[in-house]
Amino acid sequence: MKYFLALDLGGTKTSAALFTQEGVMAENYVYTVASKTFHGESAVYENSKKALEHILDQFKVDMSEVLGMGVGCPGPLDADRGIILNAPLMGWKNFPLKDRLTQDFQIPVRVDNDCNLGALAEQRQGCAMGLKNVIYVTVSTGVGAGILIDGQIYHGKTGGAGEFGHLSIEENGKLCPCGNRGCLELYCSGTAIKDILVQESRKGTKGLVFDLAAGNEGKLDAKLLAEAAEQGDAFSLALFERIGERLGYGLSNLFNLFDPDMVVIGGGVSKSHQFFEEALLRALKSRAIGYVQDGQIAYSSMCDKVVLYGACSLIREAVEKGEKSCHLLH
Ligand SMILES: [Zn+2]
Repeated sequence: MKYFLALDLGGTKTSAALFTQEGVMAENYVYTVASKTFHGESAVYENSKKALEHILDQFKVDMSEVLGMGVGCPGPLDADRGIILNAPLMGWKNFPLKDRLTQDFQIPVRVDNDCNLGALAEQRQGCAMGLKNVIYVTVSTGVGAGILIDGQIYHGKTGGAGEFGHLSIEENGKLCPCGNRGCLELYCSGTAIKDILVQESRKGTKGLVFDLAAGNEGKLDAKLLAEAAEQGDAFSLALFERIGERLGYGLSNLFNLFDPDMVVIGGGVSKSHQFFEEALLRALKSRAIGYVQDGQIAYSSMCDKVVLYGACSLIREAVEKGEKSCHLLH
């Protein structure tokens, strides 16, 4: 039996899984640990290595049975060389992730941006299976996108394509940490939801979501908002609708620019899509120049596993293409 390893290295969590040669996740098992962010360059790396070693132990797999490893990471990164250009959370600047993993595990390694791998997973095995031009949008702590053109990842010149969250939708809007103003993610990410809830709470706005938090600002987040919306809280439902509108306006720019076959939306906030999908479609259709069908927007069913599936597809295809280990080692 031969296997592939997959790693999803995030700002908060690091997940690892084992896949069969056919791309099936072994026992549907994902091992997740907190990322050792802000602990320095080697802490994050050693922590990831341990997660991978745990997976090998768990399944009693020997490295001789592993054909390769796929890794998803937040950008910006150089996918060809597997170098993480700048990840302040991890303490990484020009960090040679691919070389380090290749040396330590002695197998071929492929690295790409997590949103790009989300797109790859959805197009290879998910709800956009077999479609040509697919965009995966993640709505979680931030907002990002992965773009597949003719089934291939579009990286752009420097690997920086897909910064959908930094599309400016308000000329004189809020200042974003990226230096721009009015960026989309300031209005509809998980972070934005937290900020809005805290502001409203301090203003004394009434709503079940604030009752549920019982004065604890730390509890105010997208999950609690969904809980309150579930119980019919008018404030929470209206906020989700506003988020859907903003996302819809943002997506209309993607439709006008790419005319994609499908946009798949994933990420933590997307789990509550029942509360915002109507507003999203309405806003999207009102701003898109071409005709948008309801089925061109889908919500990821792979959820938290999407990057792992994409990482597996990435390395599986590289290995299948005959890029043998000696090639990938250098
Ligand atoms: Zn920005």
